[in-house]
Amino acid sequence: MATRKSADTETACQHCGALVFPDARRCNQCGKFPVKLHRCPKCGMISEPTCERCPRCGRLLDPDGDYL
Ligand SMILES: [Zn+2]
Ligand SMILES: [Zn+2]
Repeated sequence: MATRKSADTETACQHCGALVFPDARRCNQCGKFPVKLHRCPKCGMISEPTCERCPRCGRLLDPDGDYL
């Protein structure tokens, strides 16, 4: 069953690779939100991991951190 893809029901945590349900708020293994999204530590704005700066307040985002 390791090779079976079931994209409709499970997805891999983008932090640790554990399988999580798409609607899961946090990964059971690492405890983070399974999709990498930046949360600005200054204003709390959520932005894409490709963003270099917070679109709301302009704070520089850490490309390896600041995740949900
Ligand atoms: Zn995880
Ligand atoms: Zn911000």
